[in-house]
Amino acid sequence: MDIGAWCGHCGESFRLEELTAAGYTGRCPRCGRDLSPGYAPVASAAVHEVAAAATALEVAARRLHDVAPRLHLDGRKLCADLADAIGEPVTEGRSS
Ligand SMILES: [Zn+2]
Repeated sequence: MDIGAWCGHCGESFRLEELTAAGYTGRCPRCGRDLSPGYAPVASAAVHEVAAAATALEVAARRLHDVAPRLHLDGRKLCADLADAIGEPVTEGRSS
């Protein structure tokens, strides 16, 4: 899954994968400022975990669709719940 992210310093968007492609440095791929001051190793692990969780969700949902085609997940509600879960409400603007 292509997870979008954005920098609270410059406001520019990027793919989460861009942070890990060449090894997580903790720097914004756009402005170069530090996104996780003092916590790069922990943030690196968490970024990888978020990406793995997104892939796991995608794989599990596809498998469920294959074996239970009449069971439909509510994508709209899932998106809203996910936004709440990650603390990034869909309706609010960007605020760093
Ligand atoms: Zn930035």
